Amino acid sequence: MFDVHKIREDFPILKREVNGKPLVYFDNAATSQTPQVVIDTIVDYYSNYNANIHRGVHTLSQEATDAYEVARKKVQQHFNAKHSHEIILTSGTTHSINIIATGFTHFLAEGDEIIVSALEHHSNIVPWQMLCDRTGAVLKVIPMNEEGELLMDVYDTLLSDKTKLVFTNHISNALGTINPIEEIIEKAHSVGAAVLIDGAQSCPHVKPDVQALDVDFYVASAHKLCGPTGVGMLYGKSEWLEKLPPYQGGGEMIEQVTFEKTTYAGLPHKFEAGTPNICGGIAFGAALDYMNAIGFDNIAAYEKELLDYGTKKLLEIEGLKIYGTSQNKTSVISFNLENIHPYDVGTIVDKLGIAVRTGHHCAQPIMDFYKIPGTVRASFSFYNTKEEIDALVEAVKRAKMMLS
Ligand SMILES: *Cc1c(COP(=O)(O)O)cnc(C)c1O
Repeated sequence: MFDVHKIREDFPILKREVNGKPLVYFDNAATSQTPQVVIDTIVDYYSNYNANIHRGVHTLSQEATDAYEVARKKVQQHFNAKHSHEIILTSGTTHSINIIATGFTHFLAEGDEIIVSALEHHSNIVPWQMLCDRTGAVLKVIPMNEEGELLMDVYDTLLSDKTKLVFTNHISNALGTINPIEEIIEKAHSVGAAVLIDGAQSCPHVKPDVQALDVDFYVASAHKLCGPTGVGMLYGKSEWLEKLPPYQGGGEMIEQVTFEKTTYAGLPHKFEAGTPNICGGIAFGAALDYMNAIGFDNIAAYEKELLDYGTKKLLEIEGLKIYGTSQNKTSVISFNLENIHPYDVGTIVDKLGIAVRTGHHCAQPIMDFYKIPGTVRASFSFYNTKEEIDALVEAVKRAKMMLS
């Protein structure tokens, strides 16, 4: 049974106060909080078996290597990849995207096209622009509507035999919209294009199945799903990962090195140059175990309750507008008070112990679309409560009174 009060006991940080008030943490779309089991995993690693991996014959090194490879298997199982060597452990979503964007330099020519969505995070726009600069490929954008949904009929018209790569997030971090990735993938494949899906924002809420999706690449960060910062994953179909060149040169990624010629290691090591975030990778595995034990169906059902409750309560405040009103969205509410800057609302709300995000959420093109400088964003996780939402609503009312 899903018991939020019991779950909250797992998160030591939720007991603290901010400005003399109990912390209400509603910035989960930026990073999630860390349960005690994950903290314990980190402490255990540094207390008992800290060593470099894949190198030593000594006991500690073998223990660390085994634990790291077990973590890779957990990631593989979680995303349902066919092989564990299709899982590259990276420093996070941004790193994963850059591996692909750099690798594709070799596969694109002038006039080829890359399609991205209007709902992207900057980390999903800039690497593609850089790729276009290197290759002469052209970036095309699937536009969005007022509700914050992609215009799929326009997508149809953008696709052609020039399309080599399609890139979109699974769920928008700024608005919470869940994009129809099944349809996006299928249509891209029908013109022979590869698809990369950014799952940074979806993985805290849903459990993707990369084989069922038939996606070419899928990326995510551990820190948004109860793991530590500085670690994440890149899934790639082995046919693709075999073809792509390595991203960085260094130790761990080679088979043989001489000054005349170096041959590269096989997958996944080809993409894992240097000493990785060993402890982080192991803790990533622990975070997946933790979330799977709660169950993604339970998480999604409870967060939907929070979303519906929060949407209803916030809309009762006169002059409050929500951006991103798709029927198909996760527990993110982006809003503004009429004629009041989001930064001012965020500052007052923080004085009352409530952490929300203010600004453009690394998605300036979306803000430009709505012609606003930014929004206040409250993003809920499975450890949040309706009482906390009530506290937010009271705080926003207070901010409105003080600022208007
Ligand atoms: C957070 C986020 C990223 C960037 O993740 P990092 O962990 O900072 O690399 C990319 N895309 C989306 C949709 C995100 O929410």
